[in-house]
Amino acid sequence: MRRARPLTISLLAGAAVALFAAQPTLAAPTPIDPAQHRQMLDIWKKMISIPTVHGRGQMAAMANYVAGLLREGGFAAEDVRIEGSGDDLSLAARYRGTGKGKPILLSGHMDVVEARPSDWTRDPFVPVEENGFVYGRGALDMKFGDAVLVSTLLKLKAEGFRPSRDIILLLSGDEETAMATTARLAEQYGGNAELLLNADGGGGLLDKQGKPVAFYVQGGEKTYADIEISVTNPGGHSSRPGATNAIADLARAIDRIAAYRFPAQTNEITRAFFKATGKQIGGATGAAMLRFADDPGDADAAATLRADPEYVGITGTTCVPTMLNGGHALNALPQKATVSVNCRIFPGVSVENVRETLARLIENPEATVTILDHPLASDASPLRPDLMKAVRKGIDQSFPGLPIVPQMAAGATDSLYFRAKGVPSYGVLGMFIKPDDDFSHGLNERAPVASIDPALRLMKTLIVDLSR
Ligand SMILES: [Zn+2]
Repeated sequence: MRRARPLTISLLAGAAVALFAAQPTLAAPTPIDPAQHRQMLDIWKKMISIPTVHGRGQMAAMANYVAGLLREGGFAAEDVRIEGSGDDLSLAARYRGTGKGKPILLSGHMDVVEARPSDWTRDPFVPVEENGFVYGRGALDMKFGDAVLVSTLLKLKAEGFRPSRDIILLLSGDEETAMATTARLAEQYGGNAELLLNADGGGGLLDKQGKPVAFYVQGGEKTYADIEISVTNPGGHSSRPGATNAIADLARAIDRIAAYRFPAQTNEITRAFFKATGKQIGGATGAAMLRFADDPGDADAAATLRADPEYVGITGTTCVPTMLNGGHALNALPQKATVSVNCRIFPGVSVENVRETLARLIENPEATVTILDHPLASDASPLRPDLMKAVRKGIDQSFPGLPIVPQMAAGATDSLYFRAKGVPSYGVLGMFIKPDDDFSHGLNERAPVASIDPALRLMKTLIVDLSR
């Protein structure tokens, strides 16, 4: 994931733990075959030991390892394809069904972000199991999820499961960097797919005592965009100031952007999120959530939520200045000043629309307002009843009655490219973790072993029920 933890998990860390009071586990969890548990653990550790940092030339080792497992597990050789070169590799494996419906896609990424051994307590690429955790780069983001996907497919093959539609596993190789392999996979498979299940989003929240309090289904992602505003000026000697000054003009522009609030918005996912959370949270914030879910035009409710950094991101688009550059000499009038503004754009709003808003705001026809790179916008996915029903069933096998809350993420995953192709996409990894244990992209990344069985139960239920 491009770095921002799923909104909800970090968000609700504190509140949710209080919110969704720990749920009594009624029935005993559906047993997971101990051999599969061990197999998943071995695959997970093996994957961590392959340092798939983009540019290190190890992506082929990971792709070939997975391909080997799948072929040994019963996939036809021609149904497992590795494409690309260097580290721009992707893997696609087709589990053939009876062709009664469009395929469902399973998504994950093989690459991890950089990790320098000198910064870590131990070698980040030597998986260590300790105190109920597996430590290593990618333990959480996202080799746990990759291992859940592979182990579940192998289990279904071994059980002779025959779906009515094809199931296609898609593993990209540069989700943490350029997402070029993701774009390629979306081009190849996104035109004819029923839906996509992403093991790199969603997740379960544990309280400080380790009890599950809620499960989040990620159904939408804000668009990440950097917009650069540049002001130029003829400049001159600083002892002879003119009517305009590049830095002063830019400062005025920044002031206006900082003061501006984009229109408050909701969608099916954020309404469901605020309704589920508002009811539980109570108090002024809870009441504001419920009012906002009913009417995003409720200025007071919006103001209450926007005053809290935890919730502002869910109420609409945000744009903030993040980097500044200007001037070339202490004793010269600046000839150029530039600011980059980082925007997290609400699903359904185009990046160009936001660029125009910023250009209008600053009222400086001399300034250039440019979108950096080529950000891709995507709409939120509908909360399909069949998907939500299967999630309910899969979660109840481990934690009966646990609240299930839709979520919108501030950062992007591979789902972005598939949603942009019109494929409904859902982050549904059954990883249950305390927010304080989430060090993805950080030092000493880890993930709990205890989350293996809930994740396997959920993924198997989803794949079987949605491909039947
Ligand atoms: Zn990730």
